[in-house]
Amino acid sequence: MPELPDLEVIAAVLAPRIVGKAIRGAEPLHPAFLQSTEPPLSAAEGREITGTGRRGKYLILHLSGGLHFVVHLMRAGWIWHGPSRYTATKSTVFRITLDDGNELRVIEPGHPKLSRGWLLPSLDREPLSELGVEPLSEDFTLERFKGLISGRRRQIKKLLVDQKLIAGIGNAYADEILFAAKLSPFRYAHTLSDEEIERLWRAIPEVLRWAIAEIKAKVGDGLYQEEERSFLRVHGRAGSPCPECGAPIKEILLGGQRTDFCMECQHVDELPGGGRIYG
Ligand SMILES: [Zn+2]
Repeated sequence: MPELPDLEVIAAVLAPRIVGKAIRGAEPLHPAFLQSTEPPLSAAEGREITGTGRRGKYLILHLSGGLHFVVHLMRAGWIWHGPSRYTATKSTVFRITLDDGNELRVIEPGHPKLSRGWLLPSLDREPLSELGVEPLSEDFTLERFKGLISGRRRQIKKLLVDQKLIAGIGNAYADEILFAAKLSPFRYAHTLSDEEIERLWRAIPEVLRWAIAEIKAKVGDGLYQEEERSFLRVHGRAGSPCPECGAPIKEILLGGQRTDFCMECQHVDELPGGGRIYG
């Protein structure tokens, strides 16, 4: 599933291709895609795309006159941009036709189709209004972070991926952040010392910025179908040697969610029960 760094790069890659172009038409090709009803989709016609952006794991297209297209790619959606003359495949769930002969499509192979879109009159509406702090913004201060996690009787990985607390971090980058902070994903937030909380807080923007730079370097100005994850240090690396200490990276599968970590570097004393362990 694309996370903050992926969406950040997609928004940056799209900007020079579509900003300044006018929308000829917008059409959902799957009935569940469009989640908003007011304004109607036809309100986007004739408007210019004035910018691209991101909030959490949502991609945003800003339109002239104060409207915004918001897209969530969910598990397997991706963005395609190219000439309108290429016939849309059966996997296309949404398309925007531009005045320069190109189209922007949301493509999602397989079933069920989970990607969703909204045409919003302002950015403080659902689904964006439910999101927590942006971890790359100035608002993400140590004080704010402490307020979000201090004393919480929840595992820190679960807090990191809670979009209502911090927006944009998913399973993969939560693993990378916890590895960088040398903290066990299974620790409960209320057991963290002030020093550990600060270490975790520093690791969040560091890891996300590092990932954005790595993805940009790999994809250049291209759009991609699968997330670029080849540079990750622990996530998806079960069985490989830890890049820091050489011990095998472990993976535990709990409730369909996998967590990858280094027992040594992250001081994992105890594994949660009930999970299947690999590596
Ligand atoms: Zn290690």
